[in-house]
Amino acid sequence: MTFDYDLFVIGAGSGGVRASRIAAGFGARVAVAEEYRIGGTCVIRGCVPKKLLVYASHFSEDFEAAKGFGWTVEGTSFDWKTLITRKDAEIDRLNGLYRQTLGNAGVETIEERAVVTGPNAVRVGDRTLTAKTILVAVGGWPQMPDVPGIEHAITSNEALHLEEQPKRIVIVGGGYIAVEFAGIFHGMGSEVIQLYRSEQILRGFDDDLRNRLADEMRKKGIDLRTNINVTNIEKTDGGVRLTLTDGSTLDADAVMYATGRVPNTKGLGLEEAGVELAPNGAIKVDAYGKTSVDSIYAVGDVTDRVQLTPVAIKEGHAFALTLYGNAPTSPEHDAVPSAVFSQPPIGTVGMTEQQARDQFGEVDVYESDFRPMKHTLGGATERAYTKLIVDKATDKVVGAHMIGMDAAEIIQGVGIAVKAGLTKAQFDATVAVHPSSAEEFVLMRTPRA
Ligand code: NDP
Repeated sequence: MTFDYDLFVIGAGSGGVRASRIAAGFGARVAVAEEYRIGGTCVIRGCVPKKLLVYASHFSEDFEAAKGFGWTVEGTSFDWKTLITRKDAEIDRLNGLYRQTLGNAGVETIEERAVVTGPNAVRVGDRTLTAKTILVAVGGWPQMPDVPGIEHAITSNEALHLEEQPKRIVIVGGGYIAVEFAGIFHGMGSEVIQLYRSEQILRGFDDDLRNRLADEMRKKGIDLRTNINVTNIEKTDGGVRLTLTDGSTLDADAVMYATGRVPNTKGLGLEEAGVELAPNGAIKVDAYGKTSVDSIYAVGDVTDRVQLTPVAIKEGHAFALTLYGNAPTSPEHDAVPSAVFSQPPIGTVGMTEQQARDQFGEVDVYESDFRPMKHTLGGATERAYTKLIVDKATDKVVGAHMIGMDAAEIIQGVGIAVKAGLTKAQFDATVAVHPSSAEEFVLMRTPRA
């Protein structure tokens, strides 16, 4: 049987673009369909615009710190519209680059929604197209709970495009997105109230990082409240009124929900085509990304394994190597470093202390709590903290964690060492870079009692 394409990719985000480009490089005839904008969540409404906003929001503290170094900083002001316009221009530029990269690689881009209609067929508009293999890389979408009045809430998607900066914003959730946006809006001068339904934010992270981030956020002036949730949202003149589980009410200009993301598989025709989905809509795949249908594969957030861009890229690349590069490759999901661009930021790789204790029993914990040098003259009270978790039996470093200035930049290098399975003795044998915060990772000598 002849097909229109060797590979039809649905979704031109991080995973889909990488898979398309590499597959085409191996000579495959590839088309990729995208219903919104080439680049996907990370480039268009995730990591990239978020990080630009994080940079923007940090200037308020930087101006303060500058005074401690002899600078006179006067008459600063912030204009939300300017930032959003400039951020949008940068996203447009990246969107263009992605389109160009696909074109240069010989991939046909179809900027329309595609729906699976069979093991080798998709429908785009009123056309049916066939492919030997279909790759689903449609990512995820924010989910919001079923609270009365939830239609008045926004998600991070809308937060990136608000006409006006909210003077007072409530953020619901305690995950990556909630803490990152709490820091963004606070740094820009908004009053931020963050509501989290359980005991402590950032569930799944090492407890020391969770506790320290909560403390630092509160110290900066974010009103972080735990064990609380929203029961009702009402529209008011120019804002919202929230009723909380303790019966109190809160007025704000906006309420943003960051309560997780779900796989984007609704109405995609997958179940009809025989593709098995998990109860939350995630596509079930094997180690090579193959679904329950031999000709249909999936990578990235839609598989709900590790919801991170670089992981989706690795999965997309591995898929292309496996099918078109004659090199079966199964992407690894262990020791994945990641960062939370909270303020202060977090960098983490490997196991939390609790996970390591559960798995190995006896572990040594090394930690260092210090004031980053910049803050000595800069005057900020923010502290930094590094932590290594070592399996006592093998001396292997099984987890490395940091909260503090530059943690995201620092953890990448430490991630190589943890991924390589290096021992604490090998960390100790490494010469420090001085003066830096990163050097703490090779200087901690005495385990916590
Ligand atoms: P997360 O899954 O990280 O966090 C969701 C949060 O919402 C949790 O605190 C959760 O609480 C809470 N929550 C869930 N349901 C409800 C509810 N019904 N009422 C109140 N609170 C609720 O999701 P995010 O939306 O923050 O981010 C989605 C994914 O995007 C992340 O998993 C991450 O992988 C990725 N991401 C990565 C970033 C990075 O690498 N820097 C940045 C942003 C996103 P509980 O803990 O009690 O379940």
